[in-house]
Amino acid sequence: MAAAAAQTLQLRPLGNTGLKLSSVGFGASPLGKVFGDVSEQDAIAAVREAFRRGVNFFDTSPFYGGTLSEKVLGRALKALGVPRDQYIVSTKCGRYKEGFDFCAERVTKSIDESLERLQLDYVDIFHCHDIEFGSLDQIVNETLPALLKLKQAGKIRFIGITGLPLGIFTYVLDRVPPGTVDVILSYCHYSINDSTLEDLLPYLKSKGVGVISASPLSMGLLTEAGGPEWHPASSELKAACRAAVDHCKERGKNISKLALQYSLTNTDISTILVGMKSVKEVEENIAAALELATVGMDEEALSEITEILKPVKNQTWPSGIQQR
Ligand code: NAD
Repeated sequence: MAAAAAQTLQLRPLGNTGLKLSSVGFGASPLGKVFGDVSEQDAIAAVREAFRRGVNFFDTSPFYGGTLSEKVLGRALKALGVPRDQYIVSTKCGRYKEGFDFCAERVTKSIDESLERLQLDYVDIFHCHDIEFGSLDQIVNETLPALLKLKQAGKIRFIGITGLPLGIFTYVLDRVPPGTVDVILSYCHYSINDSTLEDLLPYLKSKGVGVISASPLSMGLLTEAGGPEWHPASSELKAACRAAVDHCKERGKNISKLALQYSLTNTDISTILVGMKSVKEVEENIAAALELATVGMDEEALSEITEILKPVKNQTWPSGIQQR
């Protein structure tokens, strides 16, 4: 890409939706304090800076911080004072502080609650959140039909499904009419330590389904601060990531920059959602994306890190009820 074109973030199409998402998306789970404390002032400043620098996509959920993330994101977006069509918002249904509930009645109520907290008239994408914790047949037969009604009512523009095990996506997409699910959101499967989402990309492309990949920093494992206490990875995976972090630090390199750049290289993925809670993180992540587009990535450091992570490559953890 020419240097002149890299002054701003790349926009990438999202499946058949017609939406164009910035290559770096703003993951708002940290605004719900799930990665530690963050003041509302810092959160609002982070959203403002991200938008100013070309981030047009913001993702949240009622689950993050027990609705706190949605409320703070709503206030931050309002404070931007720009027309609604300048940004793209996704939120989710079915996963709450109180537990999981994917029944039609609950998800139908959920959108009204979310819209109120977000201070919006509609959301661009409404996801069923972590569907492996529910019955996938209920998602197919009850939840998605309920979401289609919300689409007709104009409360949501597009429908998504999210979760960890990749098999959930093919299970659902093989059982619903084309155009029912517009987008999938996968997490922790396209980063330096786990790139298994790659195998699913041709299938998703053939279905015209847009791809959002979240957690390029492996939910904090590929940061100097390390992952949060609740991180579900094995101690072996955590230790290998820590070794990779230390290796970079000793050489004056930034592992988070490398990890984000690695995720951004696959342009079949529309956006990489990274959780951000400060202006500093926003600045670093946007600089990483622009640097990738102009000078490329540090291949030497990447190959060293890849070697350190080789024994745990593609190691994941159990999630949901389907696998038990
Ligand atoms: P992530 O890999 O993006 O890591 C986030 C952590 O890294 C936070 O602690 C953040 O403060 C820190 N960080 C960000 N930039 C940094 C930088 N430059 N240097 C050092 N640390 C930095 O994990 P995530 O937040 O879980 O994932 C991103 C977003 O994707 C979430 O906020 C959420 O919106 C979405 N998500 C959705 C699902 C789902 O639907 N099931 C699952 C995971 C994530």
